[in-house]
Amino acid sequence: MNIRIPALSFAILGLVALTLAPRCAKAVHSPPIMLRDVRVIDGNGGPPREHADILITGSRITAINAEPDGQPASSAAIKPPPNTTIIKLTGKTVLPGLISNHSHVGLVKGTTASGNNITRANILRQLKQYTAYGVTTVTSLGLNLKPFYDVQPQAHSGATRTADLFGADKGFGAANSAPPSSLDIQVYRPSTPEEARSQVRETAQRHPDLLKIWVDDMHGRFATKMNPELYKAVIDEAHANGLRVAAHVYYLDDARQLVGNGVDILAHGVRDKAVDSDFTQSIKSRGAWYIPTLGLDESFYIYAEHPEWLQQPFFRRSLQPSLAAQLSGTAWRTRILADTKTLASEKQALATNMKNVKALFDAGVNIGFGTDSGGTPLRIAGFAEHRELKLLTDAGLTPLQAIQTATKNAAALLHLDDRGIIAPGKLADLLVVDGDPSKDISAVDNIDSVWRRGRKVADARWFKPRRAKKPA
Ligand SMILES: [Zn+2]
Repeated sequence: MNIRIPALSFAILGLVALTLAPRCAKAVHSPPIMLRDVRVIDGNGGPPREHADILITGSRITAINAEPDGQPASSAAIKPPPNTTIIKLTGKTVLPGLISNHSHVGLVKGTTASGNNITRANILRQLKQYTAYGVTTVTSLGLNLKPFYDVQPQAHSGATRTADLFGADKGFGAANSAPPSSLDIQVYRPSTPEEARSQVRETAQRHPDLLKIWVDDMHGRFATKMNPELYKAVIDEAHANGLRVAAHVYYLDDARQLVGNGVDILAHGVRDKAVDSDFTQSIKSRGAWYIPTLGLDESFYIYAEHPEWLQQPFFRRSLQPSLAAQLSGTAWRTRILADTKTLASEKQALATNMKNVKALFDAGVNIGFGTDSGGTPLRIAGFAEHRELKLLTDAGLTPLQAIQTATKNAAALLHLDDRGIIAPGKLADLLVVDGDPSKDISAVDNIDSVWRRGRKVADARWFKPRRAKKPA
């Protein structure tokens, strides 16, 4: 789409947008905002455009003025409406807010993950953290209880001033299998196809965005997997009720069967072996989605290896105090590093996952963006998404491809056409960073500000080291 806009229509577009009366009454009265002289990575995968101006009216982007060839826009072309607030951001890059397709909200508190942690306050705390890291839309892919549904409408409207929230209700596991029994209150465990169908219908009454199933043994952690008759019933009944199904997977054989039986989303990468051409063709022809969650296996060991970034404020600010203490202490670290067999298997899983996502991406398969952040204390809201972008580039995607995956593609997975790219008419959910992430993906860590529905909701102050509180 060509979004170069001549001077006159730029001003007109602003006026038209004002008279279209955005739904949020507050937005009507706030003056338009222009982000001036920015580099734009619009989420479509193309090269950045330099010296652009973005006009925001209410919650939406109403115009962009940039020369497509990277030359500065002529000064005559930049005519914002008279009462516009102009914010000069020379040298900074604006990209669409990041969108997670696989996270969990409210489950983790400190070093624990439990249904007892799921409260409105804990969900909001986590959504605030995602927001600070530039993740402006979060999908809580299963294990959700009532507080999720209480927060969701306010997250949709922007009232929470946090990331938006989508989700998959509780989800379905097999008896004595994944997910672990500590999460029992948050999951259905049907024993017959009829029971599964009835529980899907019960779920559908709560109108979730998606439905989640766990089919495998979590890499040998449990003795049994979900019987295919059960997941076929779940998928079939979900589709009959207008719901798409995302599946927890590890093994290629399960992924193949699930795709063959109509699953819509694979919520993790295939990690036991290389994907083959049959699988690739099958997932591609059916248009199903593949969320690699590269960071999942890495999260088990990476913090014990004490990488150089472990001490940087960008990471430290993501930690609750008890988790920070665990990572700094020797007991946990010694235990993780001593289990060399598990360590080797997790590293092999990551290596296989990286090869597979590159092969599937190159073949044109729909790749979503997610990390399973918030599923365990070590998969850390917001930070995990930045690590995932880095791992996607380590796997061979270009920085622009990784960004496209985390924005435009992630929005498409959720069937959201109001976000994911920077273009007139889209929600002004934006991440502003110093530097140029198209050259070096780590520039996405240099957060200047985060915008949700046209309002600045976080900025670099979040990452400033905090002074320790004086003891009472
Ligand atoms: Zn998960």
